[in-house]
Amino acid sequence: MLLHIGLDDTDSPRGGCTTYIAALLVERLLELGARFVDYPNLVRLNPNVPWKTRGNGAVCLRLEVDEALGGAVKKSVVDAVELHGEFSCDNTNPGIVFHTGEVPQPLKRFACRVIQGVVGLREAETLIEEHCASAVGYKNMRGFIGALAAVGEPLEGDHTYELLAYRTQENRGKPRRLDVASVIEMDEATRGETFSNFDPEAGRPLVTPHGPDPVLFGVRGGSAEAVHRAGMMLKTGEPIERWVIFRTNQGTDAHLRRLSGLSDLEPYNPAVVVGEVADRPRTIPGGHVIFSLRDETGKADCAAYEPTGRFRDIVRNLIPGDRVEACGGVRALDREGRRTLNLEKLEVLHLAQDIRLMNPLCPECGGGMESMGRGKGYRCRRCGFRDQGLTKRVVEEARGLALGLYLPPPRAQRHLTKPLERYGREKNRYVHGELYDPWHWP
Ligand SMILES: [Zn+2]
Repeated sequence: MLLHIGLDDTDSPRGGCTTYIAALLVERLLELGARFVDYPNLVRLNPNVPWKTRGNGAVCLRLEVDEALGGAVKKSVVDAVELHGEFSCDNTNPGIVFHTGEVPQPLKRFACRVIQGVVGLREAETLIEEHCASAVGYKNMRGFIGALAAVGEPLEGDHTYELLAYRTQENRGKPRRLDVASVIEMDEATRGETFSNFDPEAGRPLVTPHGPDPVLFGVRGGSAEAVHRAGMMLKTGEPIERWVIFRTNQGTDAHLRRLSGLSDLEPYNPAVVVGEVADRPRTIPGGHVIFSLRDETGKADCAAYEPTGRFRDIVRNLIPGDRVEACGGVRALDREGRRTLNLEKLEVLHLAQDIRLMNPLCPECGGGMESMGRGKGYRCRRCGFRDQGLTKRVVEEARGLALGLYLPPPRAQRHLTKPLERYGREKNRYVHGELYDPWHWP
């Protein structure tokens, strides 16, 4: 039988990692005689939900197994989660979902909504009852949502790969030993095939996480072959316990949903909206840059936060009248009920003319003039010429901004954000001649 095993929410800020449990299970299930029909799937879910564990990533293992072995497989999964899950963390609520046979459309739609929005537990439980073989939940059961979404996202559209290498027990929690020069070499040797290896602005590798989790490094790329080749090029100063290649929706923009208007922005939801810049961007304490965007339906603030580095310079160059497409996640409503979109991407679609009114130039000598007071005309600063009839002149300032797509530096990007180097390299954009759309595909 075809068996899908969804896992979610086994990690905590203090350690653990759902992908590591998946890596252990791959070996255990192979020993039991399971045949994998796909790479383990790493499905990143809506990064804006407030109760997420670190990366908000769920995992699905898809395999063929003799029905007689079903019980042994399920026991292995439950044992692994109970042994390695971070049960002591309040915010960790593991969930396991077992589904047999093809993935039905209602589960695919559910997965879409968990990746692009906020979905309640009740709905997950109902779908599990209607469609799935069995499920095991712990504590507040919230892990059901991600586990079911992982089962329901078979990554039929655009997808990428990540090779994750894990540390041995004794090294976890210590600084990671990875040769930075080998990351730069790998980045250059695999350009176009891998992505988000290195942050040029900060001069720092992005393949290593910083938390106490067991991941030593992760290499992301367009094919399993590429991430394998790239991973093997990295030189580490500590042993690798094991590694696994995941197929994933990372770097695909799967979370971004196009809204018809700014009034549709909802807290904790990712969104793509088009609007007109309504005021000059302002820098607030902390170095964050904010401007307001408007369309026929309403108004919302857009924010480029301090960690987005030089991306803020792009945002600061916007002026009222510019037309932009803004992508990002909505924060919680503030006290006045205002919605703020945390910018992940910005496409400048139209640049307004930067018209400024300046004092006239002196008709006698060409020098700069100053006002003598309201309605009293102008006086030349250089030759003293005065004229009451002169008026301000209209000057068009050059714009320090070009049309195009802008992203924060790689270090500030979400797992799901499609980086610039992946544009044009998407997979399965068309299925049977039609643009792939997970909402409408049967
Ligand atoms: Zn003059």
